[in-house]
Amino acid sequence: MTRNLTQTRELFEKAKQFIPYGVNSNFRYWGEEDTLVVMRGEGSHVWDVDENQYIDYRLAFGPIILGHGYPPVVERVAEAIRDGTLFAWTTPLEIQVAERIVRLTGVEKVRLSNTGTEATMHALRIARAYTGRERFIKFEGQYHGMYDYVLFTTASTPASALGSRRNPINVQMSSGIPEGIRRYVINLPFNDFERLEEAVEAHWHELAAIMVEPILGNAAGIMSQPGWLEKVRELCDRHGIVLIFDEVKTGFRVARGGAQEYFGVKADLVTYAKAMGNGFPIAAIGGKEEVMMVIEPGRVSHGGTYTGNTVGTAAAAATLEILETEPVYEALFQRGQMLMDGIHEILNRAGIPHFVTGLPPMFSFILGVEEEPVDFRGYCTGDDPLYERLAMALLERGVMLDCDGREPWFLSYSHSEQDIADTLTAFEEAVKAVI
Ligand code: PMP
Repeated sequence: MTRNLTQTRELFEKAKQFIPYGVNSNFRYWGEEDTLVVMRGEGSHVWDVDENQYIDYRLAFGPIILGHGYPPVVERVAEAIRDGTLFAWTTPLEIQVAERIVRLTGVEKVRLSNTGTEATMHALRIARAYTGRERFIKFEGQYHGMYDYVLFTTASTPASALGSRRNPINVQMSSGIPEGIRRYVINLPFNDFERLEEAVEAHWHELAAIMVEPILGNAAGIMSQPGWLEKVRELCDRHGIVLIFDEVKTGFRVARGGAQEYFGVKADLVTYAKAMGNGFPIAAIGGKEEVMMVIEPGRVSHGGTYTGNTVGTAAAAATLEILETEPVYEALFQRGQMLMDGIHEILNRAGIPHFVTGLPPMFSFILGVEEEPVDFRGYCTGDDPLYERLAMALLERGVMLDCDGREPWFLSYSHSEQDIADTLTAFEEAVKAVI
């Protein structure tokens, strides 16, 4: 079974003539043979340039919550941009989006941004300005974007480089990061109550923030254990540390009010991006009024020429309205659960040890483990090569997921019960092909 990828290969060769490695983000490079060139999407499906059709669970790393080319969103954007795309003044559309974010998430104030990277970068600055402290804690396997401060011990870090759990190493994810910047970040194992308490008691006077992905959206959707986020909240309260939830992946995806609503824990600052615009570039930083109000003109910087631009903001207005008024989460949970249960059963029947992680709108499974992985170190004990072989076998059968097991599966409102049934049929065949 092999797809025809003639056009894909030809165009990829051309892409490489002009674009380094033929991709506009390193995460999209799957090597010379397997990097795809995609032409279009509709609802739950995408097509590559050879017209191979896929049911899409990669969903561009999560933003497509409603479906590709979702007509009510596309039409709202098309209509809005006829009147201009950028004014660098406040617009009624921005006010509408901010009001809805406040209503849905419970943040008190919100500023718009363009990407997840920008949102978490600004959140960190706000936390530093608010506390007058410079260091911050993040957790191993968390990815917060492409700027230097956070590119340490992300999900791209090899297990062998992590160091001991008692004394984790800050592993730089890229060349080109100034050496001195390492001192600002403290990486700890996720869900490790003892290590966290120790680190906070030792360093609280230097700590501006604890930045946490409430679900490890870049490490297979590993969940916060019961009491974990409460513990983080308590330590932040005890020591005047700003708690930042990075909800770039979980926001507007796991519940209308994101992970804050799902887990019932409130952060001081929250970053949103992906699902809020159904694939259009838009992000937000929200939070408690007292913390957000440090963005005082001339004193603490937040800005960007394109923040609040009509394209992204109109998309967010339409997307958030649908998320608020239609039974989107009911559909995502119901269909996602069918898929999780089906995958679990098939893997059991095939005798492959595994653990299913995450929540139905954003889930994954870690192969080759007998116990529940609760942190990135646990994830790394899984069988990545087997996952990759399975992912490639699924692609051959018209199911698109990322071949990297750290990237979860995402559901959209457009995925039908038939899509799930077709996916499970393909999954059963793919499993047989790889064991
Ligand atoms: N935070 C998290 C949790 C993410 O998953 C990502 C992107 N995958 C980012 C931040 C960065 O967002 P962006 O790619 O929009 O800059």
